[in-house]
Amino acid sequence: MTKEEVEKKRAQERQVVHEIIAVYCRHHHNDRGEDGFCAECRDLAAYADLRLERCPRMAEKTFCSACPIHCYKPEMREKIRTVMRYGGPRMLLYHPMMTLRHMFLTWKAEKNGKLGKTGQGRTV
Ligand SMILES: [Zn+2]
Repeated sequence: MTKEEVEKKRAQERQVVHEIIAVYCRHHHNDRGEDGFCAECRDLAAYADLRLERCPRMAEKTFCSACPIHCYKPEMREKIRTVMRYGGPRMLLYHPMMTLRHMFLTWKAEKNGKLGKTGQGRTV
């Protein structure tokens, strides 16, 4: 994978994560700002960005949800899992192609046994 491709993937994953958090926020929180996030979800999105920015496995892994390394701290991991569980399926409505691709890659990683037992840590 070239550096360019890695960066493209990073940007793509960031987009997916932001979209899902935005959907969750829209349906759960009222005090949203112009960017579509409330303070809590903005924090979560910023945290996800930071993790993606520092991810050393961007070239090998498919998405964070299909990665055996869980680099999120427990508190944030719990939050992002809740958000993904809610927003993941709904992404199919809004961005079917993006979501299907994501789901396929996650499924493929699981099939290859890269996720460990029973897909622990799986988000979407
Ligand atoms: Zn929110």
